[in-house]
Amino acid sequence: MDQGYSQGMGSAATTLSATATTITSINPATGAPLGEVPEMSADEVRAAVERARAAQRAWAELPLEVRCRRVARFADVLMDRAEEVIDLLVREGGKTRLEALGMEVVVVADLVRYFAKHAPAILAPEPVPLHLLKHRASYLHFVPRGVIGVIAPWNFPFSIPIGEVMMSMIAGNGVVLKPSEVTPLIAHKAHELHVAAELPPDLFQVVTGRGATGAALIDSGIEYCVFTGSVATGRKVAAACGERLIPYTLELGGKAPAIVCADADLDRAAQAITWGGFANSGQVCASVERVYAVDAIHDELVARIVEHARSLRQGDASASDDVDVGAMAWDQQVATVERLVDSAVAAGARVEVGGKRRPGPGQFFEPTVLTSCRQDMDVMRKEIFGPVIPIMRVSDEDEAVRLANDSHLGLLAYVFTRDRARGKRLAERIEAGTVMVNDVLNTYACPETPWGGVKQSGIGRTHSAIGLRDLCEVRHVNHDRVAFPRELWWYPYKQGTFRALLRGAKLLFGKRPWKR
Ligand code: NDP
Repeated sequence: MDQGYSQGMGSAATTLSATATTITSINPATGAPLGEVPEMSADEVRAAVERARAAQRAWAELPLEVRCRRVARFADVLMDRAEEVIDLLVREGGKTRLEALGMEVVVVADLVRYFAKHAPAILAPEPVPLHLLKHRASYLHFVPRGVIGVIAPWNFPFSIPIGEVMMSMIAGNGVVLKPSEVTPLIAHKAHELHVAAELPPDLFQVVTGRGATGAALIDSGIEYCVFTGSVATGRKVAAACGERLIPYTLELGGKAPAIVCADADLDRAAQAITWGGFANSGQVCASVERVYAVDAIHDELVARIVEHARSLRQGDASASDDVDVGAMAWDQQVATVERLVDSAVAAGARVEVGGKRRPGPGQFFEPTVLTSCRQDMDVMRKEIFGPVIPIMRVSDEDEAVRLANDSHLGLLAYVFTRDRARGKRLAERIEAGTVMVNDVLNTYACPETPWGGVKQSGIGRTHSAIGLRDLCEVRHVNHDRVAFPRELWWYPYKQGTFRALLRGAKLLFGKRPWKR
């Protein structure tokens, strides 16, 4: 065991109380313990929120530009210490070094730089032109909410929560992060970098524990909750927030379809789908989770995907850089993947490559390609969240779009075609928060684009101007441009005034013969 937070390392909030139990973080590729964190009580969570709130008051007083400059220092420190962060991400998350760099560290560094530069414009007061009451004017201004609670999953334990933490602080808030019990050490590492960047230590707190600690965070007086996780937990979070009338963003599960048209560049499509299905061991909410290949190119596409899948090297990425597919972070997820693959095979799916968990040590499921899949199979309907690509043959693009939309989830979707106009037409018909044409996954790394789903994939958006503004209260100011002694509709009510207003209303809102 090489890291411990039980002696009060990291934020003050992580000090072990006398009665606390601990959670042991392990390296999923080897099973070796990495460190322990306390399972924090509701009182400790509430105290952490209060500390963040106290620090937030002074922070919110700083001009936005100053906050941006100070948060930008996090990116300086992060890139200076990138190797150390990557190392922990590989050991605690099971991912490869390249994934830790490209999907975690760089995503946060770029997001920090982007919002540090653009937040002043995004959060500048916004005039609202009034179409009728021209003698008055309105504008919106964006005010910090207070303390934001961020509840995070284990699949991207750095880029998902720390992006939200940085945006929250730029917007003038304090933040309390509840990381997944599977990957708590990286949250403490992020706090360490926060302190090294000379940001106010208490402004960002980490509270560790299991589901009960997340529930306690929602009950601790936070002003907003950013939750990323499963649909099942998302429902509980929404209910708890609803009970307390706390606004929230929910980033939930995905079942991204990839539609491959007859005119697709098959080489690009096959490489994209292979990477999009197996990157981060398939533990990506935007993973390619089902492929609809039109009849004309189905066999050729399958052959190419299988060839790519066979060439992948799976193993312990903490021991070697020559690994394409790492370990799965959570043992229970391996069992879910195994169940879904077994039930698909029992229902007639064919295993082209992979198909089973690897013997230990470590938590690995082989990169798996399934063909002869049908829409009624669980593997085509339920989130797999593992390295499995199920492929189904369809007659044409219309059938593919219909099946893509036949899902309770709608986070990401992908279309492959050489015809850009057709790609955009198909993209606009698909029910998803984001549709990419001829590419996969990448828009999470574009901080300027909104991230979020439709249907049960979530509520609200993170990233982008929308996501940053959601971390603020929107306040509306309405003021006079011309000083009249009184408004026409104020007391006293008189018949003459009524007639004049009625005439005006009919003119303005009634039939307008001259406009026909
Ligand atoms: P979970 O829903 O199991 O957990 C998410 C977080 O919620 C964890 O920190 C968990 O704590 C905490 N939690 C559990 N119960 C409660 C509760 N009652 N109240 C408050 N918090 C609670 O998700 P996973 O960690 O398993 O993550 C995988 C899921 O996340 C997948 O469905 C995936 O699609 C989704 N996801 C969505 C993304 C998106 O952007 N839309 C991005 C990434 C993942 P603990 O872990 O300690 O139990």
